[in-house]
Amino acid sequence: MRAVPPPLAADVFALSRLLGSALDALNEGAQARGGPLPAGGPEAVARRVREALGEPLPETGRGAEEAIRTLVRVLAEGAADPADPRCAAHLHTPPLALAVAADLAASALNPSMDSWDQAPAASVLEAEVTAALAAEVFPAARAADALVTTGGTESNQLALLLARERHGGVTTVVGANAHHSFRRAAWLLGLPEPVVVPTPSGTIDPEALQDVLARTEGPVLVAATAGTTDEGLIDPLPELADVCAGVGAELHVDAAYGGPVLFSRTHRRLLDGLDRARTVTVDLHKLGWQPAAAGLLAVRDTADLAVLGHTADYLNADDDTEAGLPDLLGRSLRTTRRPDVLKTAVTLRALGRTGLGALVDRCADLAQELADLVEKAPGLDLKGRPTLTTVLFRPTGADDETVAAIRRTLLAEGRAVLGRAAADGRLWLKATLLNPHTTPGDLADILTLVEGSTHR
Ligand SMILES: *Cc1c(COP(=O)(O)O)cnc(C)c1O
Repeated sequence: MRAVPPPLAADVFALSRLLGSALDALNEGAQARGGPLPAGGPEAVARRVREALGEPLPETGRGAEEAIRTLVRVLAEGAADPADPRCAAHLHTPPLALAVAADLAASALNPSMDSWDQAPAASVLEAEVTAALAAEVFPAARAADALVTTGGTESNQLALLLARERHGGVTTVVGANAHHSFRRAAWLLGLPEPVVVPTPSGTIDPEALQDVLARTEGPVLVAATAGTTDEGLIDPLPELADVCAGVGAELHVDAAYGGPVLFSRTHRRLLDGLDRARTVTVDLHKLGWQPAAAGLLAVRDTADLAVLGHTADYLNADDDTEAGLPDLLGRSLRTTRRPDVLKTAVTLRALGRTGLGALVDRCADLAQELADLVEKAPGLDLKGRPTLTTVLFRPTGADDETVAAIRRTLLAEGRAVLGRAAADGRLWLKATLLNPHTTPGDLADILTLVEGSTHR
């Protein structure tokens, strides 16, 4: 007798039943964890996961219900939960429920963005939404465009690739504050190692850039940052754009973190000069509250993307394209590609610019409130007033080993997830505030936990 195959996602009743189990398991796992992170450190987590998992590929399957309940529960119990206000280490966003619901629909439909006959509606949605987002970044450009990527790493890599193709080779100049992905991208693309401009103040000094450019030969792409990973600082974009224009260098801005500040009426002037870049990286899985992945590379001129054009007869044969089937393959270096744009489109429509801007503002306000609390605390030092939503602080007089140990103690006890960042030659604790539901009381709790771990 042949076994009946398990239901497909297209069977919405079956999907709904299993979804109910998954949601129950999420809840039970979160209850069992009871905090931002599982207590007990890596060994305790590994033990629980291995115990629940048993044989990853059993000879006889245990069925959908059991598998979902067991593994979703253990994953939730062992999760670092970005929705917990005490989980604030990284640009690790608590995703919006509406975006996750849309992402589920995307998974169920499973369009693949590499050819029109796998994604007829999704490809239109992607084209419309990316055009609108590109216009946010480059409001005055006539031919702005944007590619959907897996995130800042891929976007930065594409920016370097496009620059290399424009010039037949390019030297990247970055600040010491730049994301590590530029070094890897240069390595991967066979480009010279990026030239690094020191950033003792945390951002690129235009004069220091000028000096470096005077010594750098050949075509140059300067990569500035709007929202540094460590400190949430923004390089002086208009001044850097002037320096680049003066010597004929091109500008890329890595606004993976800061880009969504464009939605905020209050704060968007922080990004003045952004539209003078040739390419801009933006992540909506940070200040955009999307589940990963939701990256973008915006380009001022869509003609720059022509080099990504590529033909594979089974996806975009010339005669199919001539007959009017849209050719999507050149919108990415990937082939099979999820319709990540659906959750973003749903979010933009549900919240509007105002709603998204309000979330940005809320997190920026939280950062200011945390900075205020640190300044008032006699036992804590503040690195500086926050620009975006990142706050660096440390116990007064502590050495770096103590700061690092505080972070690890809180992790091991499952009480708080704080990041670390080196700045001014010292190690700091880092709180990256991306949760708009965090309250001032939660911020005070974080500081109490740090102070409580300082003198042990
Ligand atoms: C997060 C981040 C990246 C990397 O983005 P991923 O989405 O993790 O690939 C690059 N640059 C900056 C400034 C970032 O904050």
